[in-house]
Amino acid sequence: MNSQPKLQILFTRQEIKATVSRLAAEISEDYHDKCPLLIGILKGSFMFMADLIRLLDFPLEVEFIRLSSYGGGSQTSGKVKVVQGISSPIKGRNVLVIEDIVDTGLTTAFLLDYLKKKKPASLKLCALTDKPSRRQTPVTIDYLGFTVPNKFLVGYGLDWDEKFRNLPDICFLE
Ligand code: 5GP
Ligand code: MG
Repeated sequence: MNSQPKLQILFTRQEIKATVSRLAAEISEDYHDKCPLLIGILKGSFMFMADLIRLLDFPLEVEFIRLSSYGGGSQTSGKVKVVQGISSPIKGRNVLVIEDIVDTGLTTAFLLDYLKKKKPASLKLCALTDKPSRRQTPVTIDYLGFTVPNKFLVGYGLDWDEKFRNLPDICFLE
């Protein structure tokens, strides 16, 4: 048997709920009359997306995109590719990217650049968490949930080797 890693709670489900409500209010203010296209980055953003859009009481559309950095190993290679794209047209849409965590920034910087070329009417980023100590490329986060320390987070969609996505709290591995 593998020894179980020790988990510490960083943000409880109640804190997450309050933060997602705050983000939903900010997004509602800006997008209630814009029928935005929300694009979640798989897999990590699925739980955040589901909770967030339940609080958005206006017309919107949802897409998911799957990206991967190739090169192998645990270090981000810096090269990102689209593994599973989106079918909805982007041109002229008000696009809001939904991400679980901005770490080095390479993934979101790539995606924002990729989407920008498709000529959306507007393009913004909402990230549940931001780990600025690891940033390699500048990224503007328009709607931010939590700033987090340089620890490996799991839970609320975030995985460690595909496990722990189902935890309702955001934890870190000791
Ligand atoms: P970036 O390209 O900003 O370095 O990385 C973004 C992606 O790396 C995130 O979407 C996430 O999948 C993964 N990642 C970065 N930091 C963490 C972390 O602390 N925990 C988990 N589970 N994934 C992370
Ligand atoms: Mg991710």
